Amino acid sequence: MTRTTRRPAGPIDPDRTDPDGAAPGRTRGPGREHRPRRSKLLRSVTVLAVLAPLGLAGWLGWRTVGSPDRSVPAASAAGPGTPAAAPPGGASPTADPTAATGTPAPGTTPGGTADPAFPLAVPTSTALAGRTVLLDPGHNTGNSAHTAEINRKVDIGNARKECDTTGTSTNSGYSEAEYSLDVVHRARAILAARGATVVLVHDGDRPWGPCIDERARIGNTAHADAAVSVHGDGGPANGSGFHVIMPAKVVAGKADTAAIVDPSHRLGLLLRDSFHAATGEPYADYVASKGLDTRSDLGGLNLSTVPKVFIECGNMRNPADARRMTDPQWRQQAAQGIADALTSFLTTR
Ligand SMILES: [Zn+2]
Repeated sequence: MTRTTRRPAGPIDPDRTDPDGAAPGRTRGPGREHRPRRSKLLRSVTVLAVLAPLGLAGWLGWRTVGSPDRSVPAASAAGPGTPAAAPPGGASPTADPTAATGTPAPGTTPGGTADPAFPLAVPTSTALAGRTVLLDPGHNTGNSAHTAEINRKVDIGNARKECDTTGTSTNSGYSEAEYSLDVVHRARAILAARGATVVLVHDGDRPWGPCIDERARIGNTAHADAAVSVHGDGGPANGSGFHVIMPAKVVAGKADTAAIVDPSHRLGLLLRDSFHAATGEPYADYVASKGLDTRSDLGGLNLSTVPKVFIECGNMRNPADARRMTDPQWRQQAAQGIADALTSFLTTR
């Protein structure tokens, strides 16, 4: 697939040609993701009054540095230091220790004492209350066993493209699909604890896909306020670093990104800065420019009607990047950077 920016010759990476992936998905839609998230959030909001002052401090800290004028969201500064927030396997936010972060509970006295007659059950944070975030874990571990399905061409407006791709992997076999789903789970926990409704394009519950057009459609149908597709790249082994991909203006066929180009660019800048601050990962030295790229060949972006960007968190074919991406603590930092960028995007202008 033709790219909009130059890319050095090198091993062909599935992502190079198709970072987004996908399947005719009737089995699952955003609605199914919503309901459990909400109920889990309600359960997760029960916090001890004694923790509230701590949470307030954290929230204020985040607010202080979370402006788009700053490249380092506060939660990132503190974020990598919250490995305890890592939900192994992306469990529900209920078990997320970050549940302690948030606004003071109503029903709490100035001294922080709860009225015993009213058990505290309040959102851990309302920063993202009423906002919907779409998280798109790139590819699917089942894609390699469903080549016929994922090779089917779908319409992305200015071209026809494979429904989805298998994605890449590290030399030791850790797949991009596993990586992206894990990071998405971690980011979901953080965002849910801040009050967001988080919709996943898939949750490891489909045999393959979904197709790239459906990946976009799920965010559109959910009326997501922002969307991020998470990937690991498969670039030349001597190249390293991460980059963010933003939508080009594409008005062709069923694609019309005119309305999302600007907000997606703002999201892309926030994500570039936040991810860099949270992980220390350098900007890619083999593709993009200063960690930013703009493309017109990705169905997941072309067909989106909500602000959306992709992030290639690192180059899985590079030994140093692969080492980091295989480390759960680093993945927690990656998730923190993604969640902080989305939070900044949704709470600032
Ligand atoms: Zn990918």
